[in-house]
Amino acid sequence: MSVYDLDLEQLTGRLLGWGEPAYRARQVYAGLWRQARPYEDMTDLPKELRAQLAGELPEGLEVLTEREADRGATRKALLRLGEKGHVIETVLMGYRDRVTVCVSTQAGCAMGCGFCATGQMGLQNNLTGGEVAAQVVWAARAAVRLPASTPRRVTNVVFMGMGEPLANYRATRDAVSRLLDPDGMNLGARHVTVSTVGVVPGIRRLATDHPQVGLAVSFHAADDELRNELVPANRLWPLDQLEAAIADWRERTHRRPSIEWAMIDGVNDSDRQAELLSPIARRLHAHVNLIPLNPTPGWPSQPSPRARIGSFASLLRAAGVPVTVRDTRGREIDAACGQLRSKFVADPARHPCRRPIPVQVR
Ligand code: SF4
Repeated sequence: MSVYDLDLEQLTGRLLGWGEPAYRARQVYAGLWRQARPYEDMTDLPKELRAQLAGELPEGLEVLTEREADRGATRKALLRLGEKGHVIETVLMGYRDRVTVCVSTQAGCAMGCGFCATGQMGLQNNLTGGEVAAQVVWAARAAVRLPASTPRRVTNVVFMGMGEPLANYRATRDAVSRLLDPDGMNLGARHVTVSTVGVVPGIRRLATDHPQVGLAVSFHAADDELRNELVPANRLWPLDQLEAAIADWRERTHRRPSIEWAMIDGVNDSDRQAELLSPIARRLHAHVNLIPLNPTPGWPSQPSPRARIGSFASLLRAAGVPVTVRDTRGREIDAACGQLRSKFVADPARHPCRRPIPVQVR
């Protein structure tokens, strides 16, 4: 366990047990989350307390490498997290009006989407909630190195990195709690989005536990036959069940869901797929994001040509569906959607457990 796994009440309990006054816990908690400071920079704390914190409640947040692309506006870090030393990747993207961090929830992924580098490596381990949220602490530190044309502070968090967030439900739920905590990071719920490939029980739980956060569902195909191939989770939760869960989520949260669609040349970019997707997106009042496929070594397909993406988008718009064609950030450092794959994690000597583990929704 790292200190980021503790909420303020738990941290207060630990510090009271050491004979520290309660206000010290608030001080440490604000230092960790609001100021994103490592212990050694908390010079307002007594030196002995800093040493005790480092020894008994380690941060477990180590930056192994940090690379940049897009003239410094995209940064990808390889992080070692927690006492088990999970190695994962986190991506920070600066825009004119916002700074978004894309966090990982698992080292690897068991969902097996063939076009995704993380899926190609299989599942190594689940992260804890603190390990997920600690990635935002790294991002807050790294944001000051973004170009001056960005806000240089984390404004948005998307759970779209390595792993399927709703297959590691408890960690995702706890990480969201930590990020929204007014005593901690204090992010607005509407600036947090959880992405899923369609883990139906998780969508239903999220609507109850965190009704204010956004939901993005990776469809990639609008009929079960093709979706079974591209997104194997569809065999567990086919499109009719998925649509029903998203509809219930929408009713409960009053929020507009997003549908993510990787545009794959000659696979899912046909007029027919657009025609099948349109009524689903309309019924769900969803916004569709089209993302040109990012190439990965283990998958032969290519991104759809620009003109094909334009035609696909036009068909959706003509059917009354709001559409955005997303840019692909960080492709040259393998930081784009579907490209995250930690070579450290793929080393079986470090992580011998390569068997997929069941989805943990509770
Ligand atoms: S696309 Fe998402 S759910 Fe599918 S294998 Fe990759 S990380 Fe897992």
